[in-house]
Amino acid sequence: MTTEGSLRAEIVEVGRRMYARGYTASNDGNISARLGAERLLMTPKGVCKGFLTPDMMCITDLDGRKLQGEREPSSEMLMHLEVYRQRPDVHAVVHAHPPVATGFAVAGIPLTRAVLAEVLTTLGSVPIAEYATPSTSELPAAVAKYIKAHDGMLLANHGALTVGADLFSAYFKMETIEHFARISLVARLLGRENLIAREEVDRLQGLRGTYGIQAPAPLCDDGTSAPTVDASCQVVEAPIGGGRRLVPDMPEAPTRLAASPDDEAEIRLTYRELSALIEEAVRSLR
Ligand SMILES: [Zn+2]
Repeated sequence: MTTEGSLRAEIVEVGRRMYARGYTASNDGNISARLGAERLLMTPKGVCKGFLTPDMMCITDLDGRKLQGEREPSSEMLMHLEVYRQRPDVHAVVHAHPPVATGFAVAGIPLTRAVLAEVLTTLGSVPIAEYATPSTSELPAAVAKYIKAHDGMLLANHGALTVGADLFSAYFKMETIEHFARISLVARLLGRENLIAREEVDRLQGLRGTYGIQAPAPLCDDGTSAPTVDASCQVVEAPIGGGRRLVPDMPEAPTRLAASPDDEAEIRLTYRELSALIEEAVRSLR
């Protein structure tokens, strides 16, 4: 059983790690955790998360009324309250602006491709909640669409949000999202991504039980369909493998053209090589 004192100390530690890893700058980000059934412990407004002390936290009820604390609760409290309302299983919420993941959020590119087995088993997919003005009621409304089915999401042109059954599981998901974003960025800079085939993704989902990981929602049947009103399943972009466990993406990538051995394979020729082939063919016709 987590005591109030140990939970305050954990929030301090998570804030310190977030700031040390560059997930927040200045006073950005916020952290909260359930304190029993009726109350929340939350970081205060206007404090750098790298310099929190246990006494700084606010205690609020589930409607956001402050019950204890000298400071005012986080400016993003409404977003945290929305998560706790919708997810009784969630005991902690972490919000930060990790720069690579936030870059994807700014570019409007969700982290929904099946590229890393461990991310598929721990987080599933990471969608982007629509843009909302920070600290207003728009933000909880944007988050509400995805939070039932996802433990982590990007916030368009803003940052990322993760939740968990305890504080460190919520925080580690933030680390996973940023790590995933960094790897995705490198792969895209290198010019291609091999995607994990749908059959293998299904197999990985089946292994979640072995690792004791509970998914908030299953994967959508059609991995490419976008959620409509409320996302009730996770969109993961994973093509049918047809026997292959990895499927090359980006058909225009030169490496694919050179590697495919089947009859449908494309080849690349220089203009000089093509001219020589045509000349040869014409000569043989004469
Ligand atoms: Zn923020």
